[in-house]
Amino acid sequence: MRTLITGGSVLSMDPAVGDFASGDVLIENGIITRVAAHIDAPDAEVIDATERIVMPGLIDNHRHTWQTALRGIGADWTFPDYRAAIHATLRPRYRPEDVYLGNLLGRLEALHCGVTTMLDWFHCAEGPEHADAAVAGLRDAPGRSIFCYGANYGHQGSVEAEIRRVHRELDDERGPVTMAFGLRGAEDTSIETVAAELKLAAELGLRTSVHIASDGTARPVDDLRRHGLLEASTTFVHANGIADDELRMLADAGSSISISPDVELKMGFGWPMTGRALAAGLRPTLSVDDTPAAAATSSPPCAPPTLSSEAWTAPYVPATCWNSSPSTRRPPVGWRSAPAASPRARTPISSCCARTTSPCSRPPTQRPASSPQATPASSTRSWSRAARSSATGRCWVSTCRH
Ligand SMILES: [Zn+2]
Repeated sequence: MRTLITGGSVLSMDPAVGDFASGDVLIENGIITRVAAHIDAPDAEVIDATERIVMPGLIDNHRHTWQTALRGIGADWTFPDYRAAIHATLRPRYRPEDVYLGNLLGRLEALHCGVTTMLDWFHCAEGPEHADAAVAGLRDAPGRSIFCYGANYGHQGSVEAEIRRVHRELDDERGPVTMAFGLRGAEDTSIETVAAELKLAAELGLRTSVHIASDGTARPVDDLRRHGLLEASTTFVHANGIADDELRMLADAGSSISISPDVELKMGFGWPMTGRALAAGLRPTLSVDDTPAAAATSSPPCAPPTLSSEAWTAPYVPATCWNSSPSTRRPPVGWRSAPAASPRARTPISSCCARTTSPCSRPPTQRPASSPQATPASSTRSWSRAARSSATGRCWVSTCRH
C-alpha cells in the first residue's frame, strides 16, 4: 500500500533530507521511503497537506495524564497550592473510572497536539484498579504510550508486587502501551528504597523516571552518584537548582533530564535548565507535566492544525525522547509540609468539587481598588482568583481569600 502526503510544509528533522516549504512524503507499507519537493506516485492514496505542517510526531516524556479533567484549575498555583489541592484533596477521591476518562481524554488530547508518543507519569496509584484503569485509558486511544508506574506520593512501603503484576500485563515491547518505573526518589523515601527500586527496574528491563530538584542546599544527584545509583536508563524530571557539576555527573552517567518550562515557571521551581543542561553536555527534553497548571482555554480559532490548547497556550513543545535530559528543583516551601490526605470514603470527584468550591462574594469582573501590581502578593492572588472565577462565579479550593 502506498500513501502520498503532498503539498505540506515538510520538516524532516533530518539534515540529510532537509526541509521543504512545500513537499511530498511517500509511505510504502507503513514505511517512509522518500521525501522530496515533488514525488510522482500515481497509484498512491493521496493526502492533501496543503497549508499544514508535516513532521515526525512529538514525544512527551512526562505527563500526569490522569489530571486531564482538572485542566486550568490551578494556572496561578504555586507548587504548595498544587500539592494541597490535587494530591491532598482531589486525588484521594479519584475513582478508577475517573482515572480511565482522564487517561483516555488526555491521550487523545496529546495526539491532537501532535504528540504521537507519550509517557504517562502515573501518580494516582490509589489501588491496583486505578492502575488498570489508567492502562485501559491509554490502550483505548491511538498512539504509543508508556505507562510510568510506581508508588503513590507519600507511600513508604514496597511496591514490588504491584510493579511485577503490571509488568506482566505490559511485557510486550511491541505493544502500543509499554511500561516504565516511576521512582519516588531519595528525598521522599530513602537511598535504600531508591537502590531497591533501581534493582527491580534492572531485573525487569524497565527505564526509570524520577522528579528531582534542589533549593541549592541539597546535592541529590551527587548523593546518588556516591551510592552508585546514577543510571543511563533514568530520566530526571525538572532538575531546577541542581548544581552545574551535578548536571555533568548526569551527562557522564548517560542519564537524561526532562524540562517542563511552563509548569516550572508558573509554580516557582526556578528557571528552566535548558541552557545549563546543554552546557553540561546533556541533551534536554521537554515535557508537559501537569495540566491543572495549563491554561483552561480551548484551541483558539486560528490555532495551527497540529497544535491545540496546550501547545498553543504555553511554550512547551515536547521534543526528542526519553533519551535526553534535565529536571527541577524541589520547591523550597511546601513540598513536604502539605497536609496529608485524611482517610475518608471515596466519593465521586463531582461531589468533591462541590465541597471544595465556595461562592465568590466579589463580582468576577470587579477589579480591586488598587492595582494588582501595587498590592501585596496575597491581594494580587485573591484578585487573580476572582478574575479566573468569572466563568462560574465560584472560586476554587479553600485557598480563596475572599
Ligand atoms: Zn511531574
